[in-house]
Amino acid sequence: MHGKGHYLWLLIFAGFTYAVLFKLGKLDLIIYSWPMYFTYQIPDLIERPFFPQHRSILHSKRILRLMFLLAVISWILASEGQTNYYLAFFGTIGYISHLIGDSMTPQGLRR
Ligand SMILES: [Zn+2]
Repeated sequence: MHGKGHYLWLLIFAGFTYAVLFKLGKLDLIIYSWPMYFTYQIPDLIERPFFPQHRSILHSKRILRLMFLLAVISWILASEGQTNYYLAFFGTIGYISHLIGDSMTPQGLRR
């Protein structure tokens, strides 16, 4: 998946996340969501698509599971009053959107 496809995925993820926040009555948390507009590019910035070893560790299912774990932990910490962790939560959402998008391509993700 290339840049535009990842950006489209990010917008879908952002829309879903904002819808959940709206349902929870926490739409004011949108101000913390800017990190995801940067982190969605990180895997391809480090593991460049034209490199032979593209989709290495940063494009793996292990990292996807780790990001889900970090998202849950940062949400819990933020909900307990440490609101800066919302930045980490939204950062992981951006990264997760990239990996979910790449997982739907024929090449998929590494183990
Ligand atoms: Zn990628």
